[in-house]
Amino acid sequence: MRALIDALPDCLYVLDLDGTVTFLNQAVEQQLDLAPAEWIGRSILDVVHPDDVAGVLSSIDSMQGADRQGKPIGTPVEVRIRDGRGAWHWYEVVGTSIFEDGKLTGLLGVGRNITQRRMWEVAANDVTRFQQVVQVAPSIMLLLDADGVVASVNAAFTRLLGHDLTKVVGAPLTSFVADEGVTEVIAALARLRVANRSESIEVPMKVVGGRTRPVRFEMVGLVDDPVVAGIVVSGYDLTELQVAREELEYLAQHDPLTGLANRSFLVQHMHKHLGGDRFAVLFIDLDRFKPVNDLYGHETGDELLRLVGRRLEQSIRPIDLVARVGGDEFVVVAAGLGTRSAARQFADRIEAALSSPYRLEVGPVRIGASIGISMSEPDSTVASLLSDADLEMYDAKSDRRGVSVRSSAGRRRSAIERRRLADELAAGLGRGEVVAHLQPIIDLRTRGLVGFEALARWHHPVQGPLRPSSFMDLVEDAGLDVDLGDAVLESACTTMARLARHGQHLELGINLSVGQLTDPDLAARLAVTLARFDLDPERLVVEITEQTMLARRSAGGAVSADDTLRSLHQLGATLSLDDFGTGYSSLTHVRRFPLGAIKIDQTFVAGMCTNAQDHAVIEVIIGLGRALDLLVVAEGVESQEQLAALAKLGCNQVQGYLIAPPMPDDMAVQWVLDRERNERKQTA
Ligand code: C2E
Ligand code: MG
Ligand code: MG
Repeated sequence: MRALIDALPDCLYVLDLDGTVTFLNQAVEQQLDLAPAEWIGRSILDVVHPDDVAGVLSSIDSMQGADRQGKPIGTPVEVRIRDGRGAWHWYEVVGTSIFEDGKLTGLLGVGRNITQRRMWEVAANDVTRFQQVVQVAPSIMLLLDADGVVASVNAAFTRLLGHDLTKVVGAPLTSFVADEGVTEVIAALARLRVANRSESIEVPMKVVGGRTRPVRFEMVGLVDDPVVAGIVVSGYDLTELQVAREELEYLAQHDPLTGLANRSFLVQHMHKHLGGDRFAVLFIDLDRFKPVNDLYGHETGDELLRLVGRRLEQSIRPIDLVARVGGDEFVVVAAGLGTRSAARQFADRIEAALSSPYRLEVGPVRIGASIGISMSEPDSTVASLLSDADLEMYDAKSDRRGVSVRSSAGRRRSAIERRRLADELAAGLGRGEVVAHLQPIIDLRTRGLVGFEALARWHHPVQGPLRPSSFMDLVEDAGLDVDLGDAVLESACTTMARLARHGQHLELGINLSVGQLTDPDLAARLAVTLARFDLDPERLVVEITEQTMLARRSAGGAVSADDTLRSLHQLGATLSLDDFGTGYSSLTHVRRFPLGAIKIDQTFVAGMCTNAQDHAVIEVIIGLGRALDLLVVAEGVESQEQLAALAKLGCNQVQGYLIAPPMPDDMAVQWVLDRERNERKQTA
């Protein structure tokens, strides 16, 4: 009998009335790794899972009052039993009461291991649960066959795109993709067919009703997988993400107070337009804004700035951009304004718009605006355009207050900033960061190339090439005139010597500053440098502005400017009076120095075709030149119209973007060689 019991595949045990184990068969030892000897005398509850204890107890209880015939009581219970190594197993247990002499003495239990069956049940349950999850998932899930036809799809597809699910299954995925995304989807599917890989694409999906929605698809190719045999796709709606992205982008590029573009947007915009059509940069600084802000408080100040922003928006054209770049500073980038005079007219209109009274909550308020202009040139950078316009704005402001022009432009930088920049410039001069760009001057009658004017450019390590307006004031204050002049001359002579080796012996114009004019060694040093490059001093043109001439008096150097100019003349150089017409244009100056040429300031040239006064000034200067036997050079020539008008008036030489911008060494040499080649071709 015992052998038979031990041979049973099911566990068999006997408990006394309080659940203490009194007998176990061998199956228990085999299946649960529990040595019977260890278990005799212990409570069965010690190996039952805590969650199942209540069930076991009630089953034991129910048997206490069982029918005395020893029939199995109750339905089988499923309990988890811990084996000797601590792992849980599911058992289906059926209990039977044991009666001795008509008295209940214990319980006989038979347990069958059902762990495997339970696992299948759970798994089956999970699959249905999982299918439900897939159905309600917020993202699109698709199974495509190898040809990209939808085999199954979840409800998110309909929720997001509105297509009837029954029409989706069996249709190619591409039929729901907007035209511009179809090729991308086809390409991704093709790649997925050949290799089990994954792809991630963003495409516009058609929404019922004609709109589209951006969706990102993550696709996994499982064409070779025997179970899936297709492509598994999940799709995420990017609409919200796109809105958030756009919002972030907007915030990063706009001023929260006025809603205008901010500096970073402005810089991007300017970068995009550099090298394209010419545009004007208007730097606007409000006059008397600070008193309003101080008197009525920040809220009123903000209200005013918002109104200014609105007026600016109304004053510009759709192709223009207006940005707020500082407290009460704004910049307008005006597209398609080819000339300075057109830009000035535009600026005047804006100034008028900003100057009419504002109705604020505190009452009417009047402010003004100072506007500086820079025009994009072929060699402009964003930094140079902004700083040039900024400086001109300051000049405009100080003119209005009766303060002298250049010195105030300089004073506006803080002393510390000036010191730092001056140090940077001194170091930059040592590192060769200052070079000459060369701008050609041609003879108006013969159209032949006369020579070049050397114009200083500082290749700032961070800001890129800077034009003289952004650093010339420092040069004078920090006493770097002589070093800068030497650097520009050295650089220009290098190019001129290269040209001479090509048989091009041309004139070289250089600009002199106050410090150089009072440098007793200037003439001697120029002579040495020219000799070193084997250049003829007779081909040197020295340009001085009237302002420079006037400043040299107060500069009080070791030697008088008159002496310097005389020795330069003796050396053979031609003296040229630069920016003529803007300063005093004094005949005394013209007569006092051994001048050979005068240069008409570019502002007159800019206005000569639209403004009768400008035209008249030029006519007078040319007449003066003819009478005094001086060459007359017009600079800033930008249009054929100006060129024709100057020729008609008898101007001798011209310089300007129409011919060429100031160019660095290689470009200048190339320009001359190309020009020469073209001329030869034309005469041949
Ligand atoms: P500038 O001697 O009257 O030089 C002519 C200016 O007009 C240059 O500006 C030139 O780039 C610009 N320009 C040339 N063609 C056109 C045109 O068609 N349209 C317009 N709008 N502008 C044109 P840049 O190079 O900014 O120089 C400004 C001034 O700085 C010069 O005026 C000169 O007075 C001074 N400067 C330049 N280089 C030196 C230098 O090496 N030493 C000294 N002391 N002063 C210099
Ligand atoms: Mg000049
Ligand atoms: Mg000039």
